[in-house]
Amino acid sequence: MDMLSNEQFLGIAQKDCDTYSWMQQRAWVEIDLGAVEHNVRQLKKLLAPQTQLMAVVKADAYGHGAVTIAKVALSSGASWLGVATVPEGIQLREAGITAPILLLGAAQTFEQIHAIANWQLQPTLCSPRQALVFSDTLEAINYNSSLPVHIKLDTGMSRLGTNWQESGEFVKLVTRLPRLRIASIYSHLATADSPDPTIMNLQHERFEAAIAQIKASGITIPSLHFANSAGTLVSKKLHYDMVRVGLAIYGHYPAEHLHNVNLKPVLQVKARVTQVKTIEAGTGVSYGYKYIASRDMRIAVVGIGYADGIPRNLSNKMQVIIRGQRIPQIGAITMDQIMLDISSIPDIQENEIVTILGKDQNEQITADDWANELNTISWEILCSFKHRLPRVAVET
Ligand SMILES: *Cc1c(COP(=O)(O)O)cnc(C)c1O
Repeated sequence: MDMLSNEQFLGIAQKDCDTYSWMQQRAWVEIDLGAVEHNVRQLKKLLAPQTQLMAVVKADAYGHGAVTIAKVALSSGASWLGVATVPEGIQLREAGITAPILLLGAAQTFEQIHAIANWQLQPTLCSPRQALVFSDTLEAINYNSSLPVHIKLDTGMSRLGTNWQESGEFVKLVTRLPRLRIASIYSHLATADSPDPTIMNLQHERFEAAIAQIKASGITIPSLHFANSAGTLVSKKLHYDMVRVGLAIYGHYPAEHLHNVNLKPVLQVKARVTQVKTIEAGTGVSYGYKYIASRDMRIAVVGIGYADGIPRNLSNKMQVIIRGQRIPQIGAITMDQIMLDISSIPDIQENEIVTILGKDQNEQITADDWANELNTISWEILCSFKHRLPRVAVET
C-alpha cells in the first residue's frame, strides 16, 4: 500500500493538515483510489459504448474529497462531473479540471449566473422564470455566446424541475432565448432503489411522454439522462445518453437487491489507540455513566469522536476492528474520543491502529451497518465525516 502525502492528495485543501504527515494524526479517512477506478470501470461495463458516465461529486464527493475523486473518475472512464453548488464547481475548475460540469442545483442569483458563465459550469434550468433570469443576466453581462443549459423535468420526485405536463412549453421558451442552448433534458428518480418498480415505471412513462411531445414539436434534444446509481443498476432502459452516478462510484450499493455489479468501498475511517488502562468493576464509563463495568476490565481510549463524524447515537451500539477482531465501543461517544472494551485482546497497545469503518483481515464494518443501526442511509453516513479528519489517498 503506497501512501501519498497530503500535498499529493488534493481532495481537501486544508492547510493545517499539510503541516503534519498523516502518520502523526490521531484519526483519518483513507481513500482507496484503486477502488474508485475499479468501480468506474465496472459501471462503465454496464453501459452501452456511447452512453456517458457522469461522476456525481457533490458534497465534496460524498465526503471523499471532490478534486481527487473527480480526477480519478475522469481518468477511469467518466466524462462528466455533477456538483450541487457553484462553489463546488469552481473548486474543480480551480484544480485545473476541464471536463464538463453539470450544476445539479438551481442557481439563479446574479452572482451565481456570473460565476457559471465565468467558470464554464453548465446550469440546470428548472422553470421558465429561471430561464428568463439567466437570459436577462447573460445579456446584462454581455455574454456573447450561448450557454449550454440542462432542462430539468419533474416526473414525480416533487423536487426541482418543471412538471412533466408543462415541459413542451418550457422547452419552447428556452429555444427562443438566444443566449441559452439546450445541452440536455433530464429528470430524477424518486424510488429506483425500491424492489417495487411501480413508481419508477410511472416516472419513466412520464419522461418518455414528455420527450415524445418535445420531439413532436420539431425540437432536437442533444442528450437525455434519467438514472442515478439505483436507476443505472436497475435497467439499461433507464440509461439513455448518460447516467449520473454518485453512491456506486464510492463502492456502495443503493439497495440490497441491486448487488448486480462488483463494487469496492472507497472510504475507510481509522484512528489510533491513545490510552489503555484497567478499570474496576462498578466503574462508569464516559459522560452520564451510560456504561458501568460489570467486572474489572481492560479498556482503550481512541482519538476520534462525534466532532469527527461518528454519530453519537451509536454510543454503546457500535463496534470497531483491531487486529482483525471486532471490539465493542462502550459508554457515550464524546466529541473527540471513544472508549472500547478490549477484554478480548487485553494486550492492545497505545498507538495501535483501529478500523472504525472499513475492513481489517476478515472483519468489515460498512456504512450500511451504521445506516441500518441508525435508521438512515449510507449516503448520509458517508457525508458525515468532518474535515478535521485528513483524507489520505492510498492505492491498492
Ligand atoms: C445526487 C444526485 C445523483 C446521484 O445519486 P446517487 O444515488 O448517489 O447515485 C444523480 N442525480 C441527481 C439529480 C442528484 O441530485
